Amino acid sequence: MSTVTEQVAIDDAAVDELRASFRGEVLGSADAGYEEHRRIWNGSIDRRPGLIARCAGVADVRAAVRFGREHGSTVAVRGGGHSFPGLSVCDDGLLVDLGPMKGVRVDPEAGTARAQAGVLLGELDRETQTFGMALPSGIVTTTGLAGLTLGGGIGWIMRKHGLTIDNLVSVDVVTADGEFVKASENENADLFWGIRGGGGNFGIVTDFEFRLHPLGPQVMAGPVFWPMEDAPEVLRFYRDWIADCPDELMTIVVQRRAPALPVVPPELVGKHVVAVAACYAGPVEDGERVLAPLKRFGNPVLDLCMPKPFLAHQAMFDPSFRRGWWYYVRSCDVAELTDDVIDIVVEHGLRISSPVSSIALWQMGGAVARVGENETAFNGRNAGFTFNINGNSETADGFDGERQWARDYWSALEPYHTSVYVNFLMEEGEERVRQAYGEEKYDRLKALKRTYDPTNFFRLNQNITPD
Ligand SMILES: Cc1cc2nc3c(=O)[nH]c(=O)nc-3n(C[C@H](O)[C@H](O)[C@H](O)COP(=O)(O)OP(=O)(O)OC[C@H]3O[C@@H](n4cnc5c(N)ncnc54)[C@H](O)[C@@H]3O)c2cc1C
Repeated sequence: MSTVTEQVAIDDAAVDELRASFRGEVLGSADAGYEEHRRIWNGSIDRRPGLIARCAGVADVRAAVRFGREHGSTVAVRGGGHSFPGLSVCDDGLLVDLGPMKGVRVDPEAGTARAQAGVLLGELDRETQTFGMALPSGIVTTTGLAGLTLGGGIGWIMRKHGLTIDNLVSVDVVTADGEFVKASENENADLFWGIRGGGGNFGIVTDFEFRLHPLGPQVMAGPVFWPMEDAPEVLRFYRDWIADCPDELMTIVVQRRAPALPVVPPELVGKHVVAVAACYAGPVEDGERVLAPLKRFGNPVLDLCMPKPFLAHQAMFDPSFRRGWWYYVRSCDVAELTDDVIDIVVEHGLRISSPVSSIALWQMGGAVARVGENETAFNGRNAGFTFNINGNSETADGFDGERQWARDYWSALEPYHTSVYVNFLMEEGEERVRQAYGEEKYDRLKALKRTYDPTNFFRLNQNITPD
């Protein structure tokens, strides 16, 4: 396949023409800013695109797509750059970087927001919370809204208000031939179905419109920590406590070595801990009542669960997922926390060696499970829990060992795997993508791909091939 690098050498004039037409900037490897913008969040990914097209708007996106098509380039598309496997950057080829597209407009009367494709979660939250509203999204503020939404979007208020896609009203899309289309329940409904979970397979989404919900600004939220040795009792208590909890309550179990942060007492830093982090998406007093049994259980070594601004809670995990560290993830859904699953969790939790490796065990259900399995392309609405096993290191040192730890943990859970969340996949091959969507939806997505991208122009994603 020809690459843009080769094309640049062959045809500088075409690149000059693209540059001249662009409102954003077009960076080659010799340009200032190239090094910064070729990098993504996962430091273990080190790729060098031939050209980086930093788009300022829809016209730039269309021009970049047409350029890529005319020159037969490999094309990568980037929203926030948080793809775990690094699907938002390529070697050689053309990187369509939507990062500069930061527009957000909240309509407080209508309870909606429009956001462009370069917006990060924290940027959207800042604008919605100024009106006392929120969109269900993810749990780290630097994650891109675009990639997260296109895969589904799970986070702290999903059990009350649904996935991010369950609150999506409409999208603007640039297709593989550079055309502009809109999609919603009433317009190109087939495309709208596929975009809600099908990733970037069908085009570049340039603009999202969402429904918002009143929230905060104060919420009852945060983690309670126990020594990892207490995990067998803590997890059994936890399982029973959440069995019939209200939708307002969302929890994530975290296993890690206690991080060196100002809120963590020095004597706890580096110790293996299990935490239940919570967020109550309702009145603070109700949250205090619902969370009281958790805070009372056993002998917590640290309790940071208290009334706080929703924005502060959204940023809680940011220091644990810094840009540039080396990241590897394995993920699966399980139906329930049986005693056998708890035994595996305890055993592998105690084996964490890196201070920046961790697991997040997400409580699913609530509003997520009340949307029909076939209403959107997202799969696994009836999952009980989602495991996100993160084998991380700050540099290349020790990365192989952390990866192996994550793989071993995931393999031990294999007898209990149900579905898997597409946004938590590495590059694991077609079979895993098929598993992520389920047979029936995968076939429907393939048919949609044949309609909207028959040449598989958009292939650097959890790829649904047209054939
Ligand atoms: C630290 C961290 C925390 C996370 N937390 C959560 C969480 O709480 N909840 C959750 O659901 N997920 C979470 N994720 C997973 C996250 O949803 C995915 O990694 C998602 O792809 C990130 O979106 P992005 O725009 O930053 O990604 P990018 O790396 O920019 O893109 C990811 C994929 O989406 C495609 N893409 C991006 N933008 C567009 C667009 N506008 N149009 C078409 N295709 C596009 C890219 O081509 C690529 O294939 C997290 C990931 C990380 C690294």
